[in-house]
Amino acid sequence: MKHLAVFAVLSLFGSAFALSESQKLHLVIDPGHGGKDPGHPVEQVYESDINLQWALELKEAAEARGIEVTLTREEDEFIQLSDRAAIADAIEDDNVVLISLHQAASNNSDAKGTRVYTSEDADEATKSLAAIIKAHLDTIYETRLEEGDFYMLRNRNYPAIMISAGFMSNADNLELLQSEEFRAQFNDQLLNALVKE
Ligand SMILES: [Zn+2]
Repeated sequence: MKHLAVFAVLSLFGSAFALSESQKLHLVIDPGHGGKDPGHPVEQVYESDINLQWALELKEAAEARGIEVTLTREEDEFIQLSDRAAIADAIEDDNVVLISLHQAASNNSDAKGTRVYTSEDADEATKSLAAIIKAHLDTIYETRLEEGDFYMLRNRNYPAIMISAGFMSNADNLELLQSEEFRAQFNDQLLNALVKE
């Protein structure tokens, strides 16, 4: 029997990502960039490739927990943001959560760590879910909650959260991002934040 983690943390976070046990999560994973848009290229490594690999692994891990998953892209192809959003918007299930996956890069090679973004006008359910995700990811890697004005997070009718797992411009982070073991731990904590055994 799956128990939604949100019930356990409602008292801590005060609200309202209120799924009942019988309601099934439909996770939309949006691997940022692709095709002619590689995202941040650092030392022959493309953000678009990391994001896709990550998304495919997250999909597998989520499905193993009985979560329904839709990807906005499954190959190295260019897809407009509006088309990606339309894929998520078209899902008729009640319990859609969108996770847009990106990596960061900075001129400051010391910048590192995970960032969990919501849009500034996100509703309480989205903000509390982001806080739950932050708390879980923080157990394995330094994670900050941020607000940002990103297309995929704007005007969605379901919780939409962007996660940047690390900074490709930081050598240690880049190594972590390319570690299958790290990605597996990260995905595990992310899924613990969404649905708990
Ligand atoms: Zn990106």
